[in-house]
Amino acid sequence: MQSQGSMSNETVRDFFVVGLRNAHAVENEALTLIDRQLGRIENYPDMAQRLREHRNETEEQQRRLETILESLGESHSTLKDTALSLMGNMAAMGNAMAGDEIIKNTFANFAFENFEIASYRSLIAAAEQGGFTQAVAPLQASLREEQHMASWIEQNIPSITQRHIVREDRGMTAKR
Ligand code: MG
Ligand code: FE
Repeated sequence: MQSQGSMSNETVRDFFVVGLRNAHAVENEALTLIDRQLGRIENYPDMAQRLREHRNETEEQQRRLETILESLGESHSTLKDTALSLMGNMAAMGNAMAGDEIIKNTFANFAFENFEIASYRSLIAAAEQGGFTQAVAPLQASLREEQHMASWIEQNIPSITQRHIVREDRGMTAKR
């Protein structure tokens, strides 16, 4: 990578602040997606347990983002978390897939975690570029959580699929 010595400090700071706010909005969307699923997947207790754990991680990720924003003099109380069209696109993608809710949700969750990974990688790069060194460690902690969640989902796609097919074969719904 080339050095970025000619850039304006204001440019990188603005990019970083907007990115932090967007990440906060993404984490809000994550909480909504998790909560929507938690009441509906009692037949997939491993997934439910992992989602509950990740819900706690997500709340901590939001606190990390708020702390970083405050350290930059950007109060998080003014955060306006807007619904991101991307998330609607991901939901639409899920709905376009054949198959049952658990399968769609699993695909959407995997896509979502990978979006978060991209977001945190970008924020870490901006923090390093702008010299916001105190922000790097907490952003890396959140990045690792997203990577672990993505990896857990990926590893569980086969067993969730097979469990779903067995249940279909027995004529069970996702709920029963
Ligand atoms: Mg997250
Ligand atoms: Fe996540």
